Amino acid sequence: MTIFKRIIDREIPADIIYEDDQCLAFRDINAQAPTHIVIIPKKEIPSLAQVEIADEQLLGHLLVVARKISEQLQLTNGYRTVINCGPDAGQTVHHLHVHLLAGRSLGWPPG
Ligand code: 5GP
Repeated sequence: MTIFKRIIDREIPADIIYEDDQCLAFRDINAQAPTHIVIIPKKEIPSLAQVEIADEQLLGHLLVVARKISEQLQLTNGYRTVINCGPDAGQTVHHLHVHLLAGRSLGWPPG
């Protein structure tokens, strides 16, 4: 079981800022920007490499929730969404998640 599943199950605490029947969003414990939110599906999918056609609606939902959170947090100057997949991308938690980063100018290309 991953740490994110434990957050979903309320076994460990997190600063949860959004929840609905399909997903949960909370502040990253090691923020890489003034605003750093992690949006996770409640369905346990290890990474983008395991998604299926049946997950299309859920994946789209995560991005709609990113937009809702951007409004909730008034991220009017922009934000970045990131999905790390696999070792080269630096994925450390094997439960699919969308990072939402904002509050500073973000470099491109990413490191
Ligand atoms: P990844 O590197 O897999 O794309 O992102 C995992 C993210 O989860 C990291 O940014 C890391 O800081 C965050 N994270 C890991 N464990 C916890 C935790 O227990 N609580 C919270 N809020 N974030 C966590």
